[in-house]
Amino acid sequence: MSSSTTPKIAVIGSGPAGCYLAQSLLRAVPGCELTIFDRLASPFGLVRYGVAADHQHTKAITRQFDRLFQHEAVRFAGGIEVGRDVSLAQLRELFDAVVIATGLTADRELGIPGAELPGVIGAGAITRTLNAHPDAAAPLPALGSDVVIIGGGNVALDVLRFLVKDRAAYEGSDVADEALDAYLAAPAERVTLVSRSAAPDSKGDPQMLKELAALPRAVYSSPDPIEAGNAGEALDRAAAGRVAAIRELIAADRPRSTGPEVTLRFGLTPLRVLGEHRVEGVEFAAGDEVIVVPASSVVTAIGFAAHPDHAFAALTAAGAETGRVEPGLYRTGWAKRGPRGAIPENRACAKAVSDEIVADLADGSLSASPSTLGFDGLAAEVRDRAIGYEQWLRLDEHERSLAASDRVRRKLPDHDRMIDIARGA
Ligand SMILES: Cc1cc2nc3c(=O)[nH]c(=O)nc-3n(C[C@H](O)[C@H](O)[C@H](O)COP(=O)(O)OP(=O)(O)OC[C@H]3O[C@@H](n4cnc5c(N)ncnc54)[C@H](O)[C@@H]3O)c2cc1C
Repeated sequence: MSSSTTPKIAVIGSGPAGCYLAQSLLRAVPGCELTIFDRLASPFGLVRYGVAADHQHTKAITRQFDRLFQHEAVRFAGGIEVGRDVSLAQLRELFDAVVIATGLTADRELGIPGAELPGVIGAGAITRTLNAHPDAAAPLPALGSDVVIIGGGNVALDVLRFLVKDRAAYEGSDVADEALDAYLAAPAERVTLVSRSAAPDSKGDPQMLKELAALPRAVYSSPDPIEAGNAGEALDRAAAGRVAAIRELIAADRPRSTGPEVTLRFGLTPLRVLGEHRVEGVEFAAGDEVIVVPASSVVTAIGFAAHPDHAFAALTAAGAETGRVEPGLYRTGWAKRGPRGAIPENRACAKAVSDEIVADLADGSLSASPSTLGFDGLAAEVRDRAIGYEQWLRLDEHERSLAASDRVRRKLPDHDRMIDIARGA
């Protein structure tokens, strides 16, 4: 393709969705030029800031994305927030196509009376603090002796694992040690994890439950029937695996360990958070009964939503079948599908959106204009401020060099400091 027919494409967000999309486009649209913007100085989105610090094997996907950023047709433009530093409309003028891959970061609200009380904390706020996200509150809020986790998916299980682990279990991680130390100074004595669904239908991966069972920490029990799924239907493979893993976790012959007493509850619906000035308990409906679980804090792990301040939240608010908003404007990843699915699912999603872009180029509804300037058309001030991939590597190296001998990196939690280091200041 000649340069007049090779599209300039902007991707907003360098998480898995943006990175997989760029990989797909490089294959599907030879010669395209890609600029991947991120509001943060670092790439990789939730791989860096969501995936738990003690799951470094999952974070290894960044090695694959590193190769993407080394491609000559790909530019990383970190530290540039679309909607603040440059508008979506400007990007649409400068690029032939724009793809929103911004993810969804706000903790979904519990939406029951008392949910605003101090002591109700979103799981995203906790996982961001543990991952030293520049937006996160530091230090970690005190959780107290009785923590109730509302939610039974993988993020809830990440939080539970954090609550039961001791310091030694973080060897080789990149946990934010200040947050870990703050928690371990007064760890939870009792944790209740409450899922709305029956145990077989709850959302956590069996593998995550098995990991908890393998830890020589905490004592687990459940007063609820573990096998009772939906309407007595035969359990599918995942549900059967989940039931087996929960059984292992609560087995009477599992050696007693140090760590909190964990109660797993299934089929309970939260009704009210109780407390006058801060959380004191949660009221749940359990069939016809109402039960109260005492709580010093409540962690909600019930999913994510578009941040209300986000400049184009409306384009990402509802899960959509298609990535095409209109020819020239697309979305992928959680911004397209809603906050569901693990990292690999973003790959298939990105391929489907890349196919839509290719189809629009083929039928002429999207074309590469010789007059679009791409990154070069941005204001000089924005171009100068953008953190390039080489600059990120400098920051990456710096964080690794700061790591204690039993850590892989020490993330800097301060955005401005990160920018300074990246620039070599
Ligand atoms: C706490 C948590 C733990 C998880 N753990 C795992 C796990 O262990 N394994 C697994 O497979 N999956 C895990 N997931 C799921 C996985 O993280 C998601 O599937 C995936 O990150 C979604 O990718 P995304 O690119 O759509 O969003 P994100 O990863 O959120 O990336 C979005 C990017 O867009 C940037 N951005 C946002 N707004 C703007 C803007 N206006 N301008 C410029 N840039 C912007 C953000 O800074 C971010 O880098 C976890 C999710 C969470 C929340």
